[in-house]
Amino acid sequence: MTTQDFTPPPRARQHCRHYSYQMGHVSPLEDGSGPRCAVGVKMDDLGASEPCMPKPAGWCPKREEWSKEERATWARWAKGSRARLATIIAALPRQIEVNSINAMTCPACGGTLRYGRWRGGAQVQCETPHCCSVRVNVDESKGWPA
Ligand SMILES: [Zn+2]
Repeated sequence: MTTQDFTPPPRARQHCRHYSYQMGHVSPLEDGSGPRCAVGVKMDDLGASEPCMPKPAGWCPKREEWSKEERATWARWAKGSRARLATIIAALPRQIEVNSINAMTCPACGGTLRYGRWRGGAQVQCETPHCCSVRVNVDESKGWPA
């Protein structure tokens, strides 16, 4: 177990602070994937999110920027997250067998790190919230990690 807190701060980048993007598959009962506005600007029309972008095309009366401090906090967290991932990938066994699941002590936080591989993919997941979680496509004929 670990007591480290890897809770991510708000994703403060160059987009409008109200902008987010819903990724991937969602249930047919909900809205699909796509851009979202936290203050309710409709995002249904093609190009509606243009004013939200880092280099906005068009104008939105509700656009608000993240502060320098918020952006710096996000950048620090993202850098730490990438460093944890690099540490973890470097410590994984070479190579993970296809159709296997295993666990080890997480080299980034001391928690439990689970990893597995199947035909076409691999997943690495630390049990410590927000420490590391990654799922990658891997050619079955190749060794992973390289
Ligand atoms: Zn961890």
